[in-house]
Amino acid sequence: MKKYIAFGATVLVLTTMTPGLAQAQTDPDWTAPVAPFRIADNVYYVGTKGIGVYLIAANHEAILLDGGPEAAAPLIEQNIKALGFKLSDIKIIINTHAHLDHAGGIARLKRDTGATVYASPGDRWALEHGTHDGDTNYPTGHFPPVHVDHVLKDGQSVALGGVRMMATFTPGHTRGCTTWSTQVIAPNRVLNVVFPCSLTIGGNILVGNRRYPGIAGDYERSFALTRAMKADIVLTNHPEMADVLDREARAKAGQANAFVDPQQLGRIAANARAAFEKERAKEMRRKR
Ligand SMILES: [Zn+2]
Repeated sequence: MKKYIAFGATVLVLTTMTPGLAQAQTDPDWTAPVAPFRIADNVYYVGTKGIGVYLIAANHEAILLDGGPEAAAPLIEQNIKALGFKLSDIKIIINTHAHLDHAGGIARLKRDTGATVYASPGDRWALEHGTHDGDTNYPTGHFPPVHVDHVLKDGQSVALGGVRMMATFTPGHTRGCTTWSTQVIAPNRVLNVVFPCSLTIGGNILVGNRRYPGIAGDYERSFALTRAMKADIVLTNHPEMADVLDREARAKAGQANAFVDPQQLGRIAANARAAFEKERAKEMRRKR
């Protein structure tokens, strides 16, 4: 079956791709527009139907988390402006991980905003080369590379006008996968907001990964780390992982605290761990 894959400005015709890649690169939800909205306090959704991108405002300046795929960058820019921000208000761009669906738009967003890009040491190479760093069981594609201005330390906070986003390294899905967290003021209380990095397999080879030999141990530590984090609100880079858009619909319909779910992050980590164990066992059986 022929698959037509819109990949930035290029249209590739692929005839022999595995379903994983075809599915990963053709998801129309990635570039389906969604009206931006405020989630809590100074945290906003500026992503698309299929890709979460978040803006954390500090007065008239802001931090942008993730850049979506390259083709979605114009939508993200429209969403930022629709909320009343200027593109030049974005001073800092951070990233959950260097995959084309979350980092592909960063080069353009950096150019159009003039922002500074912060990234983990583990994902720096991938961002600056525009491709995944590690062995996978299908080609992971390319995205516009972007220069990293500042390399983060684990536990470091990126601060802007009194707003802090803290980086916790949760590698596995990529070498430098970074979970971000902040606190927001809700009526009568402070809420922890966590933006977890992906914990899914994403085509990674778990057993005998030559370019990323420590991958399985990294995943295991990241499951434990993520599970132990206290999160009142979980905002994922694939919105359906935490029902972000459904929660917005409920909030709009009048449900109070629609985004608050302290059990959610633990569920995500437990499900991801189960999928990882299953996949690793399968790979071990195959290699025996
Ligand atoms: Zn990914």
